[in-house]
Amino acid sequence: MKRRTVLATLGAFGVMGGSLNMRAQAATKDSLKVAGWQNWSRSLPTPKAPIVVPEDKAALKALINKTEGGVRPVGSGHSWTDLVPCDGAIVQLDNFNAIGAIDADAQTAWLGAGARLKDLSPGLADKGLAFRNLGDIDVQTLAGSTSTATHGTGATLPCLAAEIKGLRMVTGAGEDMEISAEKNSDLLPAAQVGLGALGILTEIQMQLVARHKLHRRVWFAPYQDVLSNAEAYWADNRNFEFMYLPFSDTAMCISHNITEAEDTRREKDESDDGVMQLKALRDWLSWFPYLRKKLLAAAISGAPEEDVVGESWQLLSSARNVHFNEMEFHLPVSEGLAALDEVRAHIERHRGDVFFPFECRMTAQDSAWLSPFNDGPRISVAVHTHAPDDYAFLFTEIEPIFRRRGGRPHWGKLNRLGGDDMRALYPQFDGFAKLRTELDPKGRLLNPYLRDLFGAG
Ligand SMILES: Cc1cc2nc3c(=O)[nH]c(=O)nc-3n(C[C@H](O)[C@H](O)[C@H](O)COP(=O)(O)OP(=O)(O)OC[C@H]3O[C@@H](n4cnc5c(N)ncnc54)[C@H](O)[C@@H]3O)c2cc1C
Repeated sequence: MKRRTVLATLGAFGVMGGSLNMRAQAATKDSLKVAGWQNWSRSLPTPKAPIVVPEDKAALKALINKTEGGVRPVGSGHSWTDLVPCDGAIVQLDNFNAIGAIDADAQTAWLGAGARLKDLSPGLADKGLAFRNLGDIDVQTLAGSTSTATHGTGATLPCLAAEIKGLRMVTGAGEDMEISAEKNSDLLPAAQVGLGALGILTEIQMQLVARHKLHRRVWFAPYQDVLSNAEAYWADNRNFEFMYLPFSDTAMCISHNITEAEDTRREKDESDDGVMQLKALRDWLSWFPYLRKKLLAAAISGAPEEDVVGESWQLLSSARNVHFNEMEFHLPVSEGLAALDEVRAHIERHRGDVFFPFECRMTAQDSAWLSPFNDGPRISVAVHTHAPDDYAFLFTEIEPIFRRRGGRPHWGKLNRLGGDDMRALYPQFDGFAKLRTELDPKGRLLNPYLRDLFGAG
């Protein structure tokens, strides 16, 4: 195994951008219907409902009012939970993608809710602005990413939804609604993480920051040392995360800090090769954990550090090519690293089939009613399995560890929690459910998953 390949694998395991699994075509004046929606990892069955791409708000309202069956908004289909499948229409907001009014002093902008983050970033950079933080990828839409509380990493950096200052939507009742500093401001924390259950967002006003460059460092260290130092690394770096490579006793650390240094050239991404070589090691050696560990350690030792400077959005997110399924829970800071270690021990004892790195990040507190981070900063621990592999054990063996330690699941990632579980985790869950009923009295935006979640019959 080439050292560089292992390094690349850890740096951006399974990378590739923008696999949009919807065969949508150009929109016509009337909503265009095409079939065949799939989520990114193809873990969900393809629903019967067609994809509809409304051209404007009038078409969107007509769709909500006239479609038989449930209507669900979709972003770029990068969630694993059953938030989107429905029997009426899957609504894709491709035509709501513009950069609108900008307040340069406040560094806020109204942005099309259906725009991909990766398409917004260059346009914002032209105006001297940038998102404060991003997750591992940026192919999600603005509405899709905020609606599930998508996060990056950084002890002082909240999830994307916390940056929402205002939004415009068509409610489940088919009516226009604005929530902003001027209108319905008390509802902002309810709507920031909305699961697409209150209305279909058309524009979102985001708090941004000045365009900036980041210095990215990547280094390997013994796993136990990283566990001991992780909180200091979070305190000392704007963005810090680490990935544990199972069966290696080694973690890869990644930090980003603001800089004004000159841009540097980035190495070619070899992560696809790398992740498949990790798979090969798993295939050949899963019954020989000692040998697997030795080979991994040899491959990693002495791997070169990465030390690069570039635009924030170009460094924070990367593409993911190899499809996987993922469970991620957000844990109280006091429990996060212990939860990771318990998961590591369990997988290394019982699940030789796992080869994707585990990811460990931190996110700052916010106040959105359904934000997993609304009661304090949390440490997020994610476990991935190769898409063709069995992942049922995540529910039976890994989820209980996260739950016992006070974890809240990522709204878009694998979990088996129902309404009662969420009610116990979120003090404002019933308030959200009540608001949902007020804004969507006929349940136009419900699908079976949301009906169960909110006990909506
Ligand atoms: C490879 C990969 C990497 C990932 N990395 C990260 C990461 O680093 N951090 C992280 O937190 N998550 C991550 N995720 C999860 C992902 O960010 C979330 O699941 C996100 O919600 C996906 O956004 P999307 O645009 O694909 O939305 P979808 O998955 O299509 O939809 C998500 C939710 O948004 C709603 N929605 C979509 N559009 C609208 C609208 N216009 N109005 C109202 N509601 C709407 C949908 O109804 C649904 O409830 C990753 C997922 C993948 C597959």
